[in-house]
Amino acid sequence: MLKVNNLVANYGRIEALHGVSLEVGSNEIVALIGSNGAGKTTLLNSISGHVSVNGKVEFDGEEITKLKAHNISRKRLLQVPEGRHVFPGLSVEQNLLVGTVIDSGIRIVSGNYKEDLEMIYHTFPRLKERRKQLAWSLSGGEQQMLAIGRALMGHPKLLMLDEPSMGLAPIIISELFEKIVEINKSGTPVLLVEQNASLALCVSNRAYIIERGKLTLSGDSKELMKDPRVCEAYLGKAK
Ligand code: ATP
Repeated sequence: MLKVNNLVANYGRIEALHGVSLEVGSNEIVALIGSNGAGKTTLLNSISGHVSVNGKVEFDGEEITKLKAHNISRKRLLQVPEGRHVFPGLSVEQNLLVGTVIDSGIRIVSGNYKEDLEMIYHTFPRLKERRKQLAWSLSGGEQQMLAIGRALMGHPKLLMLDEPSMGLAPIIISELFEKIVEINKSGTPVLLVEQNASLALCVSNRAYIIERGKLTLSGDSKELMKDPRVCEAYLGKAK
């Protein structure tokens, strides 16, 4: 579904990604793990067209490297940003409706948006209970559900999640990650950026480790969990 080849991204004179290549298959959850400042968000923003890059990005068989962000989201490659970025002054339901991707006044996916709302409320019943509530008044976990729900309104062909566990209590994180697995099982591939390596390796099929703008390790998640380099650097286990 996604093929990234030799991606280089710069912020002015600073090169933040130094030739990154990765793939996400059509049924997979692929995790991208790395510490603060390793380049995880830059990679997602490069794929979604928010940072201009050199290299090649192919999505669903088509090159999208130089497309603008809004044209990439019209192709239903959708990103849930770090820090959720819900619209605080809109209600839960209004936030969800913002996620309906519109092109020239027409919904990009056929079907009734009310059915999509019901589908999201089925996945996240808490959002249904709070559908008239303003987004600023939600808890962090509810805001994360809302941000994911907003992306699901656009029927993603690939969902990119940037640190969904950030700042949440462990019990909420488990609930949220169960939903991410459920969303994947219902047919949506996921590229998951996480600092919480053990969680990311638990839910993903494959994973990449990024360090200082370069991929340093990749493989089957269960195998990476046993890799001494991953254990020591990311799972807090001594050799
Ligand atoms: P975190 O987990 O803290 O979000 P990250 O792995 O997502 O980190 P990035 O945010 O992609 O890392 O940052 C990668 C590098 O690029 C860092 O050195 C960061 O300081 C730098 N960087 C990120 N955004 C900008 C920007 N807008 N201007 C200049 N440098 C930036």
